Amino acid sequence: MPINITTDELTWQETALCAQAGPEFFFPAPGSSTREAKQLCNACEGRLACLEYALAHDERFGVWGGLSEKERERMRRSRSDRR
Ligand code: SF4
Repeated sequence: MPINITTDELTWQETALCAQAGPEFFFPAPGSSTREAKQLCNACEGRLACLEYALAHDERFGVWGGLSEKERERMRRSRSDRR
């Protein structure tokens, strides 16, 4: 299904540090460590925009914006509880 994305929403990708790493780094096999990916995210200037993008587009897999899928799910639930 095509996703309607504006140019502004993707500006953070221009400075994405993960573009220099392999996809296996950010989409580790189940049970593998996400520590190194998170460290890279913490040095990435687009981290918050990346995280908001992942939350808005319900990205279910991999590390986005420094959070694993479980951590994003917890954040999503916490936000919806506050509404
Ligand atoms: S925050 Fe992490 S996943 Fe997002 S663009 Fe930066 S390095 Fe990539």
